[in-house]
Amino acid sequence: MHQADGIPPRGPGGSTRLATSRTLPLETHDLGTFDDLVDLVSGGGVVVLSGAGLSTESGIPDYRGPDGTRRVEPMTYGEFAGSSDARRRYWARSYIGWQRFNAAEPNEGHRVVTELQRSGYVDSVITQNVDGLHQAAGASDVVELHGSLDRAVCLTCGEVTSRLGLHERMTEANPGFMERFAEAAAAVGSQWGEQVRPDGDIVLQDSLVESFHTPRCLVCGHDTVKPDVVFFGESVPKTVVEQCFSLVEAAGAVLVLGSSLAVMSGYRFVRRAHQRGVPVAIVTRSATRGDAEATVRLHAPLGSTLTQLRGALGH
Ligand SMILES: [Zn+2]
Repeated sequence: MHQADGIPPRGPGGSTRLATSRTLPLETHDLGTFDDLVDLVSGGGVVVLSGAGLSTESGIPDYRGPDGTRRVEPMTYGEFAGSSDARRRYWARSYIGWQRFNAAEPNEGHRVVTELQRSGYVDSVITQNVDGLHQAAGASDVVELHGSLDRAVCLTCGEVTSRLGLHERMTEANPGFMERFAEAAAAVGSQWGEQVRPDGDIVLQDSLVESFHTPRCLVCGHDTVKPDVVFFGESVPKTVVEQCFSLVEAAGAVLVLGSSLAVMSGYRFVRRAHQRGVPVAIVTRSATRGDAEATVRLHAPLGSTLTQLRGALGH
């Protein structure tokens, strides 16, 4: 039933575009030990770099499986900006997916990061996630590298609007849509909840998509409202990138949690840390692109590992 949305363009080497490497190293051996991780974090000044793997325990699936390969293809910026049909497809899916996404709650991993911040070990958090779960867990100084699903912005006039308000408008414009979706899903025995993606998007039948009314901008009236997140094929804003480079360069250590670092937007910070002699620890279940730059590399579940880390630090 699922049709791939297309293959995201790959940027040239060193590009700041959000392009992905489709293959990752498959070796998953550890480097260093849990005690090395404790030593590194106990020094303080830690900058956390978190990815989708940190939110899987909140019920938000990762784009990649444990072997590091892509399971779904996200819509690219070019597709979204390029046609009304693509935007309708995006919003119809997102209308359904966001409801589950919005109900997700922080997990133990998010909570431990917040506690480590309050205890003075962690300074700031750079996240590739758009789910707002670090903030929901009480973390401060969170840089949202890829934006947030809480907001939407009009590509025509720049008007920023809340996602909740937009969702309410979509409900008014599409009476009975949720029910039709539920019927269609039940008819094919679909486990639709399992198909929600890290960006709140889901897989949806074409006939349903065609019946959906795309939300329009309240200011200019165009159907060009886009979630305020960085799509594949789009660049992270320069000011955000510079801010993150500064944080990483001044860090006592960089702690990567639940990211395969497959996209350059996150990997470049690990590379910069390594170049500047800032130690890097990576805790995630999958292989990562940054393994060669890591001082400590643990393939372990995040919730339990972070809980153990908090205990070892005496909190
Ligand atoms: Zn507008």
